[in-house]
Amino acid sequence: KPVVAIVGRPNVGKSTIFNRIVGERVSIVEDTPGVTRDRLYSSGEWLTTDFNIIDTGGIEISDAPFMEQIRQQAEIAIQEADVIIFMTNGREGVTDADENVAKILYRTKKPVVLAVNKVDNPEMREQIYDFYSLGFGDPHPISGSHGLGLGDLLDTVVNHFPEIEEEDYGEDTIKFSLIGRPNVGKSSLVNALLGEDRVIVSDIEGTTRDAVDSKLTVGEKDYVIIDTAGMRKKGKVYESTEKYSVLRALRAIERSDVVLVVLNAEEGIREQDKKIAGYAHEAGKGVIIVVNKWDAIEKNDKTMKEFEENIREHFKYLDYAPIVYLSAVTKQRVNTLLPIIDTVSENHSMRVQSSILNEVIMDAIAMNPTPQDKGRRLRIYYATQVAVKPPTFVVFVNEPEIMHFSYERFLENQIRQAFGFEGTPIRLISRKRT
Ligand code: GDP
Repeated sequence: KPVVAIVGRPNVGKSTIFNRIVGERVSIVEDTPGVTRDRLYSSGEWLTTDFNIIDTGGIEISDAPFMEQIRQQAEIAIQEADVIIFMTNGREGVTDADENVAKILYRTKKPVVLAVNKVDNPEMREQIYDFYSLGFGDPHPISGSHGLGLGDLLDTVVNHFPEIEEEDYGEDTIKFSLIGRPNVGKSSLVNALLGEDRVIVSDIEGTTRDAVDSKLTVGEKDYVIIDTAGMRKKGKVYESTEKYSVLRALRAIERSDVVLVVLNAEEGIREQDKKIAGYAHEAGKGVIIVVNKWDAIEKNDKTMKEFEENIREHFKYLDYAPIVYLSAVTKQRVNTLLPIIDTVSENHSMRVQSSILNEVIMDAIAMNPTPQDKGRRLRIYYATQVAVKPPTFVVFVNEPEIMHFSYERFLENQIRQAFGFEGTPIRLISRKRT
């Protein structure tokens, strides 16, 4: 998906516009239990075009002085975005800070669309002409609070989208990424994986912006490790600010089939770990939890069990994810990783037979009656799998409103027990039978 970034000095209304563009999606996402999401990266759509959008104002660069913050946010936009919305404030006119942002944006060849916010009524339109002086062509008057002008702005933005050549790795190639906080050992693990002699490695440069993917072939199987940029080298610019690293991780997750959530055994589980893992879950990717630095801790016969309990407690929504305890340094159990990735990837794209699926559902109903509401009972007619990656099932019912979250969970568990699906989220959608 193309990426749009909103840049501009503080208080021009970037977040308001971001929320307008993203619409209801942000709140839907935030309702997911156990997952808190930053409002800095989300998806939007205009007409029939989907895109991702970044509010660079949400990327805090700690301790940096005001202008430095803006500068770095603009740099991130230049690096990450396909189209940049440069936002200014029509009530305040062109300020020095706007001119500073403009100077940074002159350096990019990427399209910059100039938006003048807070133009709440037509009389104010006169004032937008000053903004031609910024050198980015026609200023687009908008009003975040009134929702005016957004359509025209988005038309222009969408017109500037490049033809994205999505890298084509072939059907059977398993794409995976390693995500986690800085220093949990992602680079070491990538190197350990790529270092094994049985593996043939090649770097694929510049597939998506500055991402570098690494291809490896083991026997007959092809894998691509998504976005190893920075991981195999010393300079880890992409981790220099926490939120930027989250952004980077989100993009890697989106392009992956399977996501390895890497934890550091020495440090246990942090808030940031949960957040990152939550993204992978929400994105519907296969997930494996990797506990790295297993060599570095004191262990006895209970340690693994205690870790497992702790992980299950903190990552409730990831109860399907296998856990691997390993050491990138001593290579202990590193060789178990690819086979687990294979299994998870197979499950992630597994299709089940409709007849068996419906038997499972009917057995489930017999075991645990469907919920009722105001004297009406939920009736389930049949279920069918409508998608893979992740496996997605539609359950046809009389009244979708009577379907209860807990009953959906129950059905999901029955489906899991019947078919496996280790490592992959599955989705259940209730539809009214027409
Ligand atoms: P990244 O920031 O997640 O890519 O982490 P790195 O791979 O750069 O590792 C951070 C530090 O942890 C380095 O000093 C590594 O040598 C160390 N490290 C990585 N994996 C292991 C491990 O399995 N055991 C131990 N003891 N140290 C590790």
